[in-house]
Amino acid sequence: MESYFEKRSALFNASSEFSCPDGCDRHGCKEPALHISISLVDLLAISVASGRKVFDLFKKECKIGFDPIEEGEPWLGKVSIELRKPCSFLVGRECSVYPGRPMACALFPEYSLMVGNREELLEREIFRNFPCIQNPCSIPRRRRETLQKVMEMSFQENFLSDFYLFGISPFVLDLKAIAGKGLNGIRISEEGKAELPHRCIEDLLSQILEQGGYLQEWEAKMEQFDRAEGLKQFMKMKEWTDQMAMTAHRSLPPVAYQFDGNRLFPIHRCK
Ligand code: SF4
Repeated sequence: MESYFEKRSALFNASSEFSCPDGCDRHGCKEPALHISISLVDLLAISVASGRKVFDLFKKECKIGFDPIEEGEPWLGKVSIELRKPCSFLVGRECSVYPGRPMACALFPEYSLMVGNREELLEREIFRNFPCIQNPCSIPRRRRETLQKVMEMSFQENFLSDFYLFGISPFVLDLKAIAGKGLNGIRISEEGKAELPHRCIEDLLSQILEQGGYLQEWEAKMEQFDRAEGLKQFMKMKEWTDQMAMTAHRSLPPVAYQFDGNRLFPIHRCK
């Protein structure tokens, strides 16, 4: 496992010309609206870099997050572990777990700039004050190849993590059946538009996951990481989930889950 983390960490900066601009206020590490999903492998890497236990890191620095798949469809989304914001690993202007930082942190902003359109990124309000998007660095060909490799590793790590925790990757929830329970969180904007803060959806989700016993089940799995045998089994699982990830659909699976009371049931998605 150590050699895997060493290789991963070396790739994070290999052939890169990027460094955070002096004028950057580290919005990406602080802004709660910018969700940073992490995998269990990320959590393990942070544990190695910080010397803290995996379960302690999950309880104090993470939460179960819900990321809508499409704009305008707040109730259909992917479930994952997310860093709490502002991120507590930010010390001053430095990341205190830099060699073991999550894949999402290591890939940003270069990968977004490589595959996306900078103008489109700047249209999103959240990125407007990011100096690294306003004045992007160049991304040499060798760095592009490395970024592609890191992205592939990230896909495999997420696949393993979802599979271990939820039994499926990605784990998509359709929350429409419980949407009514979140209505008291709705606020009306100055323009008279009804808005439901994302935090209310996540709070509602956490509540129901706890009532259904799911949260406790996932936490028990995470506790295994602080035992040598649990870690060994997880890394053994990686060997075959890496194979599965190679043939897995990169698009969303046709199955999502829906709550009936506080229990989850699979449903077929129409698209
Ligand atoms: S892990 Fe490091 S790079 Fe990522 S959000 Fe936290 S402080 Fe920033």
